[in-house]
Amino acid sequence: MGILTWLGRRFRRPPDPIDPHLWHETTGASALFADLNADELARLKTLAEELLAEKEIVASDGPDPDGAERVNLAATCALPVLELGARWYRGWWTIVLFPDVYRRSWTEEDEFGIVSEYEDDVEGEVLQYGSVILSRRNLAGSNSTVVIHEMAHQLDRITGEIDGVPPLHPEMNAGEWVDVFDRRLEELRRLVDRGRRGPLEEYAAESREEFFAVASERFFAAPVILERSLPDIYALLRAFYRQDTAARRRRT
Ligand SMILES: [Zn+2]
Repeated sequence: MGILTWLGRRFRRPPDPIDPHLWHETTGASALFADLNADELARLKTLAEELLAEKEIVASDGPDPDGAERVNLAATCALPVLELGARWYRGWWTIVLFPDVYRRSWTEEDEFGIVSEYEDDVEGEVLQYGSVILSRRNLAGSNSTVVIHEMAHQLDRITGEIDGVPPLHPEMNAGEWVDVFDRRLEELRRLVDRGRRGPLEEYAAESREEFFAVASERFFAAPVILERSLPDIYALLRAFYRQDTAARRRRT
């Protein structure tokens, strides 16, 4: 996509201000925003307005999303980029809401050429060209972190490949990122293999990218627990998101 096309879409329409009452109601109902101070909430609102102007939110098979649903979604999408800016979500345009989890099937070929077919229920997914699919059923809950999970994949995708390594800031070290994530991923896999509980849910053991996305959910929803159980992962996420969510939690 050329820069003019990109700019044309980026400024498709100027952001409309979100009704303050609706904003207050929506953010007040979600635990994800409970630690933010007035300044952070004001910046989150501006970001959410930019995202609402920039992204299409459409319902597949169900009523159009109402104001509260749109604002809740935009505010949750905005949280990971609060200190990074909306430009980190450039290059994708659509969020598609499904009424419930949906069934996905895919095939995988192993190293011996044996093809297996899989099916599972999906709550959210980032498609190849960046559209996000989300199951609507879970969005309303105050502890829903599926949006954070998918936004982590979107940030990871900026480098052209979803591999658990988002574009790191100049002061960060990519080698350290990969080492720490891979070591923690291996530890979790060993625990899962022995049927034991790890510091993150089992799904994080799938791959480095899922570990990053699940750890990002925890970083925003339960930061003090993450900081205690995986301090090195917490420190890397704090450096990447440029937010100290555990300090923010302790502040409140
Ligand atoms: Zn995922």
